Amino acid sequence: MTSPSPHSNSPSASRFPVVVVGAGPAGLTVGNILRAAGVDCLVLETESRSFIEQRPRAGVIEEWAVRGLEQRGLAGRLVERAERHSECEFRFDGHGYRFAYTELTGRHHWIYPQPALVTDLVREYADARGGEIRFGVRDVRLHDLDSDRPAVSYTDPDSGERRLVRCDFVAGCDGARGASRAALPQRTPTTRHDYGVGWLALLAEAPPSADRVLFGMHPQGFAGHMPRSPEMTRYYLQCGPGEGPDDWPEERVWAELQQRLRAADRPPLAEGRLLQKRVLDMHNYVVEPMVFGRLFLAGDAAHLVAPIAAKGMNLALNDAFLLGDGLVDQLTRGDSTGLDGYSAACLRRVWDYQEFSQWLSEIYHGTSCGDPYRAGTTLARLRRLFTSPVAAAAFAEQYLGTAAGF
Ligand code: FAD
Repeated sequence: MTSPSPHSNSPSASRFPVVVVGAGPAGLTVGNILRAAGVDCLVLETESRSFIEQRPRAGVIEEWAVRGLEQRGLAGRLVERAERHSECEFRFDGHGYRFAYTELTGRHHWIYPQPALVTDLVREYADARGGEIRFGVRDVRLHDLDSDRPAVSYTDPDSGERRLVRCDFVAGCDGARGASRAALPQRTPTTRHDYGVGWLALLAEAPPSADRVLFGMHPQGFAGHMPRSPEMTRYYLQCGPGEGPDDWPEERVWAELQQRLRAADRPPLAEGRLLQKRVLDMHNYVVEPMVFGRLFLAGDAAHLVAPIAAKGMNLALNDAFLLGDGLVDQLTRGDSTGLDGYSAACLRRVWDYQEFSQWLSEIYHGTSCGDPYRAGTTLARLRRLFTSPVAAAAFAEQYLGTAAGF
């Protein structure tokens, strides 16, 4: 809940037009847009710079999101270094079925690890555009959000003192477990969907075993292969809801991956050391509206989408573009149109991607759910992608996020 503002006249109080809480893809993109327009802001981040520059997560970025970054001068290194993917592959019944979406649509996916993007965004914000950022802050609290003088306070990691920052707007970009969502009044509607399965998220020091994403639908559960770089591959393994990483020693992980992703005429997976092994609680949520008073939520703080369709960071960037532009219009020209329509504009893409994730989840998990009826309909859905051009085109549009409008 939003807290009453402490010590407004304290000597350690300062003022910025915007305080951005969280230095993930959403917060750093908002910060960069503001700095490019000459608007001062302060970014507050609980972790260290080196930690956020190395935290492995996403890798798939949609074309429109790269274009949005490019338009704002934020995609230089990405465009130089990222790989482009033109197809994915479904593996089921012991066979591999290539789905060549670029052939079908002329569009592609970009593959660029999230830590590389965060590194680029921090460098641009703090080193090139002179933006203010505090790393390692503690106990961040949001105050007076329903007034026109909101504030954010935090404990300074060096001095241990509380600092108070007054502002006009707070951008809540601090992810799924941050202070921003927690500051909303309890009555704020949040809808949630649980998938009822766990996923073991793995990062392997191993080259990709194919130049495309692989989705393995197997009676023992889903497995995924996502290339990240020439040396690194992300894998997913569906596991029981109560299982933890210790239930999955390396030998078991590789044996299951090999089995679930096995296909005739395809080589076995290239194995390597596991650098990350964590169980994801597979659920989604949406906060609606994404605004409370002067607090504007963006990215995972506002909506979570389990990494089923690789959509979360893309949504975070969409929010950030709209919020950054809306704040600039408001603070430089007094034009509130962007901020007034912010939540509704974001939520149209959010709900579309939520629906696609749910649809794709049925494909991933249907064959192993133990219900022969669901397994049968899942296989029918899968086959339709390869027999019906209309179904294939609809899938490609949602997978690539290329619908003409949201
Ligand atoms: P975050 O990246 O979570 O950033 C929030 C920041 O706020 C963090 O730096 C955090 O340390 C900081 N913070 C937290 N609390 C506070 C606080 N109280 N005060 C200040 N700072 C705080 N998405 C895709 O689009 N494509 C993919 O391929 C993909 N793969 C994924 C794979 C995995 C294993 C996971 C877990 C996620 C994946 N995602 C993917 C989702 C994507 O990583 C997230 O949606 C994305 O990070 C959201 O960005 P964000 O800026 O909203 O939040």
